[in-house]
Amino acid sequence: MGRKLLKLLIVSLLLFGIYTTKQDIYSTCSTAFAQNEKDEENPKKEIDYSKYCWNLYTLYKNDDAWMKDLKKFNKDMNELENYIGKLTKSKTHLYLGMGIKEKLDIKLNSLSAYAKLKKDLNKSSYEYLNMTEGIKKSYSRYMNITSQLELEILKLSDKDCNKYLSDKKINNKYGMYIKDIRRNKKHYLDDKSETILSNMSSINGLPSNVYDLFRNMDKKTDITPAEYENAIQDYNREKRVEAYKNEFLPYNDNINTLAGLLSGQVNKNIFYSSVRNYDSSLQMYLDSDNIDEKVYKGLIKTVSNNTDSLHKYISLRKKVLNLDKVYYYDMFVPIVSECEEVVSYDKAQGMVYSALAPLGDAYGDIIYKAFNERWIDVYSKENKVSGGYCLSVYDNHPYVLLNYNSSIGGVSTLIHELGHASYEYLSTKNQNFYNSSPSIFTHEVASTTNEVLLYENLIKNATNNKEKAYYISMYLDFIKNTLYTQTMYAEFEDYIHEAAESNKQLNALVLNDKWSMLLKKYYGDDFEVDPLSMVGWARIPHFYNSFYVYKYATGCCSAVTCAQDILKNGPDDYLNFLKKGGSDYPLNLLKSNNVDLNSQKPIKKTIDKFDELVNELEKLLDEK
Ligand SMILES: [Zn+2]
Repeated sequence: MGRKLLKLLIVSLLLFGIYTTKQDIYSTCSTAFAQNEKDEENPKKEIDYSKYCWNLYTLYKNDDAWMKDLKKFNKDMNELENYIGKLTKSKTHLYLGMGIKEKLDIKLNSLSAYAKLKKDLNKSSYEYLNMTEGIKKSYSRYMNITSQLELEILKLSDKDCNKYLSDKKINNKYGMYIKDIRRNKKHYLDDKSETILSNMSSINGLPSNVYDLFRNMDKKTDITPAEYENAIQDYNREKRVEAYKNEFLPYNDNINTLAGLLSGQVNKNIFYSSVRNYDSSLQMYLDSDNIDEKVYKGLIKTVSNNTDSLHKYISLRKKVLNLDKVYYYDMFVPIVSECEEVVSYDKAQGMVYSALAPLGDAYGDIIYKAFNERWIDVYSKENKVSGGYCLSVYDNHPYVLLNYNSSIGGVSTLIHELGHASYEYLSTKNQNFYNSSPSIFTHEVASTTNEVLLYENLIKNATNNKEKAYYISMYLDFIKNTLYTQTMYAEFEDYIHEAAESNKQLNALVLNDKWSMLLKKYYGDDFEVDPLSMVGWARIPHFYNSFYVYKYATGCCSAVTCAQDILKNGPDDYLNFLKKGGSDYPLNLLKSNNVDLNSQKPIKKTIDKFDELVNELEKLLDEK
């Protein structure tokens, strides 16, 4: 199915438009920045909160204005509904109908954004919960109408479609949208089969829903996730082992059930890819971004054949921490202790300006606006949701949610989310609505490029060797977590799908064995696989969002390549890439910015960078 039609299946995800969060990646690895841990260090009394909270006034003057607009939206939907069965009758019908749809899409984007932002600041308020429920109803009706219209576009003959697209007005504004719907025409079944599949949607979610129930309700541990994140980084090994057992044992105790669930997820993917005439589950999932399987397979091949530098880093960890062997619970202790404990938000802003200076004044102006026109809700407060994200609104500026914790990790979250925000800002300024939403694939490049520029700048300006070593270790952990670990996850996902596709049984023994083999391959001889670490696969929620994690790895390689190019040749190509928004498919957009993911170059460049950093860190630590 086309990307647009598939969205019916992922309603909740798309309801609030582009919604990108850094927490995402760290929920798949164990080095989460515990956002709220250092709140007590915020000099709260001196903070003028009115400067550091969102300005929602530009979106809606108040809740009543929002309510009025929602009523108007519900009424205006009738106008679009009239186009069902007529949209593709003529060029004029198509152009006028799409014009109405575009206006409604923009309106829905604003309505959803306001409700979400309000709710996220007032998570226990029924008033805002009702607001989001109210919009869900409108959204559901709207999706019903638009999916019928999209079906008409899909069923149009090639001859008629080409005729319509030869009209410049249609092609410029709606070309990408229409082509994207029709791209997967061959995977659409007949209407009756589509109805059956759509009626099965509640069964589809079963493996993922049951897994969530296990994690959120049945998995009982003595410590909270935030306590685990802290304890696993403690210099006292006994504390780490205790936290590790606490976290891993519930998975181990239920490992056969969890294997059954993951196997259910894989079988569901195989069923859908086969009825929709894809060669494999991998092909089906990659198709939504128009990505060839060669990109996925090439990533795994190149990274897994080049793990020497990662092995070297694990050996260095063993040496510095004076360990017999490195176990899973030794992987997250900082190899160099933190230099700057408290980073005030004012100081963080200065660090952001300095790190992003190579992107030029125009980019700096966007960052200035973000800081001074209240795009960011900075501090944690009662009833505000945890984590961090950026939310885009087409006819407004984007909004960033933080729970700034006055640490260097908080600065990297800030600069990451500002990368998303600036991309959205430039994209909506330069593209019409349907070309303005970049996919997550390129979005993560924009955010991680900023992070890489931060690490480069911190390393360059370190005032002593201890500081330099600390920043290098941050950069190394970033590449370890995003490139190596996520590629290892991607390899696991590829294996389990291929095994099931060739009728091999997936059970706890098979999954544990594969995981153990991968840990050994990626982490090397100084890493010891203890029996409990073999159930690590069962802790990764992203395996229920199939073939997704590889995007973090490709994002990391693209970001390292972009940052090197910006520092060497200036920001022009990169800024043009940001301005292109979602006007083309991700690989084409990246290629126009000198990042060719069809080649292995960006991956090799990142591995070389990692190697260079490990050697530099080793030298600095030897000098001490
Ligand atoms: Zn992100």
